[in-house]
Amino acid sequence: MDNRLSLSQYKLANFLACQHRFQLRYLRRLPWPTSPLPERTEQILQYGQEFHQLVERHFLGMKIIPSTIPDERVRQWWQAFTTHSPIQELPTDARFLPETGLTVPLGNHLLYGRFDLLVLGNDEQERPFAHVFDWKTGHLADADELKSRWQTRLYLALLAEGGSAFWPQVGPLAAEQISLTYWYVQEPTAPVTIGCSATEHQANWAELQQIAAQLDQAIAANVWPLTDDWSACRECAYQIYCGRQGAGTAVPELDETEEPDTPNEQLLTPELP
Ligand code: SF4
Repeated sequence: MDNRLSLSQYKLANFLACQHRFQLRYLRRLPWPTSPLPERTEQILQYGQEFHQLVERHFLGMKIIPSTIPDERVRQWWQAFTTHSPIQELPTDARFLPETGLTVPLGNHLLYGRFDLLVLGNDEQERPFAHVFDWKTGHLADADELKSRWQTRLYLALLAEGGSAFWPQVGPLAAEQISLTYWYVQEPTAPVTIGCSATEHQANWAELQQIAAQLDQAIAANVWPLTDDWSACRECAYQIYCGRQGAGTAVPELDETEEPDTPNEQLLTPELP
């Protein structure tokens, strides 16, 4: 049996939150979530998805006519984006790749991520750089929190390990040449940019390898323990399988861009326009 798994930020976070949840959701593929989201949450997610689609279409070269955007809130977000675009400082000859996925090997598994926008180019010293942009329509987070998120760590690791797919002639991309900017619709003038260093990448990658090894052990032993942290159960749809209904419930923080469980990944072969 092929035990190779494609690991996204969500799968990593779920594995670390509760190995049993990881097994039920991604190996046994039990439906998730089992109950509908509150109407307001659904609506907010929908607005976020509409905004992401608008920005994607923009970077694909399509003309966006604001008056045709049906929802006023999304229209305001679009206005904020066009007025305070965070990409203005980048070289004009850079390549802009919206909704681009990248997959790299991680131990016996694959690490997968999809960027809202990946910008590739050469800096003033003609060194190649990669800059990821992530559009946020949800709750604000400060720079420290964003830096510690799996999304940040995974995106930076993917490009440091797999960026050579974009520059096969020059080899690996230096960690210092990789950055990630979060742009929030609520604070369009204050994007948060996070860089990387070789030391940070080594530590980050070592931890990712350790998690992959933990996963291998769980697969080999077929042991998937329930978490000891009952607070993790509050946002879990599988309480009834574990007898954890007493944990209470909470609506999970949802991301408008969460990918389906089985992404259409390509190993080190990013799609270029
Ligand atoms: S209810 Fe708790 S123990 Fe059970 S799968 Fe979910 S997080 Fe894990």
